[in-house]
Amino acid sequence: MRRHRKVKILATLGPASSEEEQIEALHKAGADLFRINMSHASHDLMRTLTKRIRNVEARCGRPIGILCDLQGPKLRVGKFLDGKVELEVGQTFTLDDRDEPGNEKRVFLPHPEILQSVQPGHRLLIDDGKLQLRAEKCDGKSIECTVVAGTGISDRKGVSLPDTLLGVGALTEKDRADLDAVLETGDADWVALSFIQRPDDLAEVRKIARGQVGLMSKIEKPQAIERIEEIIEMSDALMVARGDLGVEMPLETVPGLQKKLIRLCRAAGKPVVVATQMLESMIESPVPTRAEVSDVATAVFEGADAIMLSAESAAGEYPVEAVSTMASIARTIEREQLYPQILYAQRPQPEATGADAISLAAREIAETLKLTAMVCYTASGTTGLRAARERPNVPILALSPVVRTARRLSVVWGLHCVVADEPTDLESMVDGACRIVVDEGIGKPGDRIIISAGVPLGTPGATNMLRIAYIGMDGRSGV
Ligand code: PGA
Ligand code: MN
Repeated sequence: MRRHRKVKILATLGPASSEEEQIEALHKAGADLFRINMSHASHDLMRTLTKRIRNVEARCGRPIGILCDLQGPKLRVGKFLDGKVELEVGQTFTLDDRDEPGNEKRVFLPHPEILQSVQPGHRLLIDDGKLQLRAEKCDGKSIECTVVAGTGISDRKGVSLPDTLLGVGALTEKDRADLDAVLETGDADWVALSFIQRPDDLAEVRKIARGQVGLMSKIEKPQAIERIEEIIEMSDALMVARGDLGVEMPLETVPGLQKKLIRLCRAAGKPVVVATQMLESMIESPVPTRAEVSDVATAVFEGADAIMLSAESAAGEYPVEAVSTMASIARTIEREQLYPQILYAQRPQPEATGADAISLAAREIAETLKLTAMVCYTASGTTGLRAARERPNVPILALSPVVRTARRLSVVWGLHCVVADEPTDLESMVDGACRIVVDEGIGKPGDRIIISAGVPLGTPGATNMLRIAYIGMDGRSGV
């Protein structure tokens, strides 16, 4: 199954897409990897979904990535006596440490560390910003606030603190338990970390994960933006988590931040996912709005590695249509005459390494000679990432002997990953590359490809060779 597009599609699974047939339909419609949201999925459900995805993968024959998204320190207020209360602008409302049902004067905030971190003047945004409070008096056990905007609050609503550096790590007790369960399956490729604030937040997870999964940092806090370069350095991938980012920061800053984050990730050669509300209206409608089509198009033009569906695929009425709509927008945009010009306005310079020099040369040769594909052998995935960083206009075939590498690379722009045995000599490497290009429907006899590899074969991190090969009539390398 060959996708005729470069950008990847990440679809969130949920009640509308938990059955194996539904997952298969999403994959066939274009979903390259799936997100399991640990805010909602029990460990049992996560294991079931993982198994179903692997069954679909075995049937369809393409490596599929699995991303498990940890909830992170998402803060919520307690409950109210009557489920909800109405409030007036200007009144006083207090969040405190008393585990009792709330009323129109106060509510329980079950996060002692937050009660200690908030300072007078800080904003508290409740329910995605629908209720805005300003802290006035803080004594460590309660935060007395003024209602700045909004009309009410109800049970277990989320609280965002854009001005407060939380004294908590990125992993809650729930996250630790979830992470253990995810790692235990041995089947997850990526773990996403929500609400990270500092580079250190990644250190603990990295230690626990021990290379089993890639770490994707969700950028949804202003504090993360402040130290973004260091966070990218510590991460394996990034998600522009526009949902919470748009609550924690002024909404109109989100598009600029999206551009900035994509550029930084492209320069670093780390995959970047654009997420949330991309086709929001398709939760209830079989067609998207013009604005949504334009939003997906923008992410594609910017050269994002992947675009994500949330409730559209997890809980909407048209999950398959949402995926196929995204796929067809992507295919169309990537064929626009202006696409290469816009994409290449941001091409990063190669770093002074063999892998980068070779990737750049391979792209230039492929484009100059109008070759059919660039082929790279990549055991750890690094060579694949560096090839994708070049954003070549020809397909990139990433061959890996490691199935986990092929799955993890499913999020990366332009990579068509295939699990293939490590060749033992140069001739079998070239033959193998030609045969797989034909088998995968990327090229045909008579075409030419360019192959990059490390010689001696099997040495990690030593890409040092380029070879132009001609596909003979038998599908192997010709003369
Ligand atoms: P969420 O993350 O869907 O887990 O909240 C994405 C976002 O905040 O945009
Ligand atoms: Mn979020």
